[in-house]
Amino acid sequence: MRVLVTGGAGFIGSAVCRHFVGDLGHDVVVLDRMTYAGNLASLAPVASSPKYAFERHDICDAAAVNAIFDRHQPDAVVHLAAESHVDRSISGADIFIQTNVVGSFTLLEAARRYLAVRGGDAADFRFIQVSTDEVYGSLGADGLFTETTAYDPSSPYSATKAASDHLAKAWHRTYGLPVIVSNCSNNYGPYHFPEKLIPLVILNALERKPLPVYGDGSNVRDWLYVEDHARALGVILAKGTPGETYNIGGRNERANIDVVRQICSWMDELRPANTSHHELIAMVADRPGHDQRYAIDASKLETELGWRALETFETGIEKTVRWYLDRADWWKPLRDRVYGGERLGLVKA
Ligand code: NAD
Repeated sequence: MRVLVTGGAGFIGSAVCRHFVGDLGHDVVVLDRMTYAGNLASLAPVASSPKYAFERHDICDAAAVNAIFDRHQPDAVVHLAAESHVDRSISGADIFIQTNVVGSFTLLEAARRYLAVRGGDAADFRFIQVSTDEVYGSLGADGLFTETTAYDPSSPYSATKAASDHLAKAWHRTYGLPVIVSNCSNNYGPYHFPEKLIPLVILNALERKPLPVYGDGSNVRDWLYVEDHARALGVILAKGTPGETYNIGGRNERANIDVVRQICSWMDELRPANTSHHELIAMVADRPGHDQRYAIDASKLETELGWRALETFETGIEKTVRWYLDRADWWKPLRDRVYGGERLGLVKA
C-alpha cells in the first residue's frame, strides 16, 4: 500500500512513518510544510528506505497537493498535518483556521479530484482523518467519550479540529469519499516537541528549572503511547469501515500533577541531584478554557478491529524519560533554537 502521510515530520506522523515503513512494509509519501513542529531528524530511521518519499509543501496549496496525488498515486491518506498546540491557538488562532480547516478542505477536495481522474472504484481508497478527543469538550468526574458523544470543543485548536472532522464526514456522506475519523487521547513518547507537558517537564527537570503545572494540577488526561497510536492507525487503515469513527485511548487516566510527580521520581532515580526534582514543581496560572477531564472509551476499536494498547502509563513514561536522557542530539537544537520553554497561551487583558 502507498500511503500519503500529511504532517509526517511531526510527532505522531513520524511515528506513523517509522511503523508503516519499518513494520508494515507500506510505501509512505510525507507531505509536510515543515513548520516549527516539523523535524526531519524524526524521520532519520526511514529516510534512506526506498519506501520513503518526502514532499515539502503546504496542505493549503491546492495545485501542489493535486500534483502530489498525481505523481505518487496513493492508495490512502493519513491526514495528520495540523497546528497542534492548544496554548499557541489561544495566542493566535489564524494559522489554526488556515491549516486545520482550509488545509483539510483542500486535501479532501484534492482526494476527491484524484479519485475522479483515476476513475474506477473509490472503495479501495481510504482517507483517515486523525483527530482528537478534545473535540468532545470536557468531562466531569465520571463517564467516558464514545464515538457518539456530541462535539463541544473549548479551545480554538479543538474548534478547528472539530470543523475539519465535520468537513471530512460531509465529504463521505455527500461525495462518497471513503473517510474514517479517529479521535485519540493525549499522546506522549519519543520525538515529542518540547512545548508539550511531558517533554517540557523532563527537559526542565534535567536543567533544574521550575516544572510548571497549570492551575491546581487536577486536570485529567488519558495518556496514549505514540507507538500504540501508530499501530492503531495501521489497524484502522487495514480493517476500518468508511464512514465510521474510532476512538483511540490507552485507558491511562492521570491527573497532570501525578504525571509530573512520576517524571520527578524517574529523574530522582536516573539523574539524582542534591535536592529532589519534586521540589522544582511550580503551580502557575491556569490555561484559559482549560478542560477538566478527558477519558476515552476505546472498546469499539478493541472489539471490532482487535487493537489494544501495549503500553501502560508506567511502562511508557519510563521509556520516554530514558529516551530524552539519551537523545540530547534530537532535542537540544530545538531547545536552543526553536522553543526554550517560555509560557505560551495566556490571554492578555
Ligand atoms: P505536530 O505539531 O508534532 O506535527 C504537525 C506536523 O504538521 C508538523 O510536521 C508540521 O510541519 C506539519 N504541518 C503543519 N502545518 C502544515 C501545513 N499547512 N501543511 C503541511 N504540513 C503542515 O502534531 P502531532 O502532535 O504529531 O499531531 C498530529 C495530528 O494528530 C494532528 O492533526 C493533531 O491534531 C492530532 N492529535 C494529536 C494529539 C497529541 O497528543 N499530540 C492527540 C490527538 C490528536
